[in-house]
Amino acid sequence: MSRDPRYDILFEPVRIGPLQAKNRFYQVPHCNGMGTLRPRMVAEMRGMKAEGGWGVVCTEYCSIHPSSDDLPHIYSSLWDQADIKAQALMTEKVHEHGALAGVELWAGGAGAANLMTREVAMGVTSMPNAHGHPYQTRAMDLKDIRNLRHWHRDAALRAREAGFDIVYIYATHMYLLSQFLSPRHNQRSDEYGGSVENRVRLVRELIEETKDAIGDTCAVAVRMSADDGTGTPGQPVSEDRRAMFEILAELPDLWDVNIHNYEHEMGVSRFIQEGSLENIMNYVKSITSKPVVTVGRFTSPDTMVSQVRRGIVDFVGAARPSIADPFIPLKISEGRQDEIRECIGCNICYTGDSLSVPIRCTQNPTMGEEWRRGWHPEQIQDKSSDATILVVGSGPAGLEASRALGQRGYEVMLAEASTELGGRVTQESRLPGLAEWARVRDYRVRQIKTMPNVHIFLDNNLDAEGALSIGAQHIVIATGSRWRDDGLGVYHRRPCRRLGPKELIFTPNDIFAGRLPRGRVLVFDDDHYYMGSVLSEALVANGNEVCFVTPENLVSAWGVMTDEQYQVQQRMIQLGIEIITAHGLDEFDGNNARLSCVYTGQTRMVSADAVLLVTSRTPRDRLYHEITAKIASSTPESGPVPTLDKIGDCNAPAIIAAAVYAGHRYARELGVDKVYSDLGRQDKLFVTA
Ligand code: ADP
Ligand code: SF4
Repeated sequence: MSRDPRYDILFEPVRIGPLQAKNRFYQVPHCNGMGTLRPRMVAEMRGMKAEGGWGVVCTEYCSIHPSSDDLPHIYSSLWDQADIKAQALMTEKVHEHGALAGVELWAGGAGAANLMTREVAMGVTSMPNAHGHPYQTRAMDLKDIRNLRHWHRDAALRAREAGFDIVYIYATHMYLLSQFLSPRHNQRSDEYGGSVENRVRLVRELIEETKDAIGDTCAVAVRMSADDGTGTPGQPVSEDRRAMFEILAELPDLWDVNIHNYEHEMGVSRFIQEGSLENIMNYVKSITSKPVVTVGRFTSPDTMVSQVRRGIVDFVGAARPSIADPFIPLKISEGRQDEIRECIGCNICYTGDSLSVPIRCTQNPTMGEEWRRGWHPEQIQDKSSDATILVVGSGPAGLEASRALGQRGYEVMLAEASTELGGRVTQESRLPGLAEWARVRDYRVRQIKTMPNVHIFLDNNLDAEGALSIGAQHIVIATGSRWRDDGLGVYHRRPCRRLGPKELIFTPNDIFAGRLPRGRVLVFDDDHYYMGSVLSEALVANGNEVCFVTPENLVSAWGVMTDEQYQVQQRMIQLGIEIITAHGLDEFDGNNARLSCVYTGQTRMVSADAVLLVTSRTPRDRLYHEITAKIASSTPESGPVPTLDKIGDCNAPAIIAAAVYAGHRYARELGVDKVYSDLGRQDKLFVTA
């Protein structure tokens, strides 16, 4: 297919200082939980973006010196020769496909506690650590500032040696340089504090010194937020911030513009839509003649074109869309935009950084596995036999298994009990704010519909006999899970026996099926991710009064990992939901619930007309066990028996990303020996100078 001419503008080359990017697709810096500890995984992952057509591919935050250490959150570094070698792995991969490689040089300030290096963190003033670690910064004196400038310059030289084309001055996200810019944080009385000119001085010096050091061959970018958090919804950008952009306007070769509020910039789709930075950052291009890039979870080529045509940006920036689909540019270029695997805005990718483990993605099961398992997001090995495979269940696990098996060329039969595809994704995407999650289903269904070798059988509730009678050589059960109705969860490790009457006890499955409670509902959340709060919101919309009870200290405590917890609790408060934290649920009699404090055991009574239990799930694996039993009792005379596996929630209930991954892995490994030793395959071999 050829490219739609409407999208030609996205493929125009753009000058960045002494260099030229081949198109307008720009993968902005994003963390990945691999960084300096796993450089080969990083190199392969970034190389994949370049292969997918991104014109610029950047690192994550890259420490310039041991005085900026963010462990346990894994960053990248350019401290010494060994780091140069490690980074060169990435730049080589990126250059192989004609992309430019960018590096985001980073100084942590009060954003880093230096827990690994134990260097005392330096800040614009003496201030508390931004993440609450009990290590304050020491205020930098003029000698410290001179040292920092020196370290930054040296790191820029090392960056060039490692093969980078674009070198960043990173002046946002509450790290050191943004604290110098901030009228709130910068309380200095010397030439680096006070007036706008003084607060911008360090950033200006770093731009000039980086240009002086490497500007003849490399481009110098500045990443800075368009606002400083002091504006109002009507006027988000302060005069102060605008004046800073005016002072610096022509100094860098490129502006990478974001916004002050990280939860907004990186917002989950439940709260933040595509292109939502525009009304804050849209003035920047009127101030500078240099190219501008920003993000906005752009997955629609039409939105991308509109951003460029209306003069908002020169480059279409992306972190998450490039994670969900590293091949967006190529697909648009080849007229295959229907094949884009659109990001759903769930922020599971961010948990790699939060939890210091390699990045994973709900939509893209190959993310983080490019080097360790050698998985390619678009390519898969051909089938190894003419076997037929029966996939039972069309949730994320069954759909992805069917899609990837189909891609391998197998004959696949996908049986689904209900009349619609998608399993939990279809059900959950109908809940408030989760509409984009349907993209997990839609991408896969679109692909499957193009495959004549994948056959879908809806309204087919299979039993063991039915499944075996199909005669497939391989059966994979992906029948999902059901929410428990007995209260067993993370805190209550045993079922709660005193919950009744039964008709007043509800689970998420009841809500999905349209069985809704009346009156005042006690939502008991012992799951701690999104389901409890999303269903509370749905009940409020249904006219119920909601009392939310959780044994945790926060609403949706695991939402901290996806950077949505703050917004979730804010939404619950705004909806007028009564929130009771740090309490278990002992008993409910139809009128009142007895709660007990998780710290003291002290009890209290709250009134409720019904209880919605969001606690944990039971695998729906009966079919698997029935088929297992039938296979075990079969005789040689009854003929060959199929292989049998279970995947996804029916194997072990977990997040949607885990179900997609399980489906993908099943498909990849069918007919191939499983290699468990690979799981620990990290970059142990690391590269010494
Ligand atoms: P996962 O997250 O593991 O993919 P889901 O719960 O999303 O699982 O999806 C499971 C799907 O399996 C549901 O759509 C359900 O209707 C279907 N299913 C369950 N039991 C059967 C069965 N016996 N035959 C066919 N489909 C089934
Ligand atoms: Fe998008 Fe979710 Fe994938 Fe992150 S994990 S890139 S938010 S789909």
